[in-house]
Amino acid sequence: MIHFDIITLFPQMFISPLGESILKRAQQNGLIKIGIHQLRDHTDDKHHVTDDTPYGGGAGMVMKVEPIVKSIEQLKRPGQTRVILMSPQGAMFSQGAAERLSACAHLILVCGRYEGVDERIQFFIDEELSIGDYILTGGELASLVIIDAVSRLVPGVVGEPTSVVEDTFSGSLLKYPQYTKPRSFRGLEVPPVLLGGDHQKIYRWRRAEALKKTWHKRPDLLRQASLTEEDKKLLQEVTPDNTMEMSKNELH
Ligand code: SAM
Repeated sequence: MIHFDIITLFPQMFISPLGESILKRAQQNGLIKIGIHQLRDHTDDKHHVTDDTPYGGGAGMVMKVEPIVKSIEQLKRPGQTRVILMSPQGAMFSQGAAERLSACAHLILVCGRYEGVDERIQFFIDEELSIGDYILTGGELASLVIIDAVSRLVPGVVGEPTSVVEDTFSGSLLKYPQYTKPRSFRGLEVPPVLLGGDHQKIYRWRRAEALKKTWHKRPDLLRQASLTEEDKKLLQEVTPDNTMEMSKNELH
């Protein structure tokens, strides 16, 4: 069970994404718990101000550090909590980061807004995460992305555990091509190997196709992957011309 606590100025943004489908069921089944906390509740002034003008001048407003820190301190559990600030300046969120975070008991996700958060927040967080090299209006969507990717790695959240293990990025390869009914669509046929019921052949075909797909779409991933001798042989078979160009030393 992972407990997520979100600190935000816009709690309503979470209602629908967390109230549908797999994440809804995961909460109902007690596999994940999600608390949404209004940052304004941690202000002392009568107008519940959470932002102010930047020292030194400049455009926009900066989020004040005190209400965020008060909120973190109220939620934090000694020895159990990891505090993460959503930020385009953070380390890039990845499947590897999702796996790492899925081992945590309690995550506090802080959602910035406006021009971002007073830099002194750095002393009160464990890490900053970005979901990509672009600027969002706030950290809410980024935190939802992280909650979604981390939650589906919690045992029991996704019905079929093997589907998580076989996903794209697990093991550094893109997932093999998948097909469902009908068998023939406008002259496009399902590969015959998938219809034959020979599981060893299907496994080998899928591995070869995953290698081929990764080679064509994300060769950077292939360079980082740990390939077996059998994988290298399969790769030669499915991309005979291309693999010649890839130095043997590049494939681990
Ligand atoms: N002025 C800031 C800068 O240039 O770094 C950007 C602030 S952005 C408009 C407001 C908030 O959205 C950020 O504090 C952060 O919480 C969130 N945010 C924006 N882009 C993000 C991204 N790519 N990943 C994660 N959070 C992001």
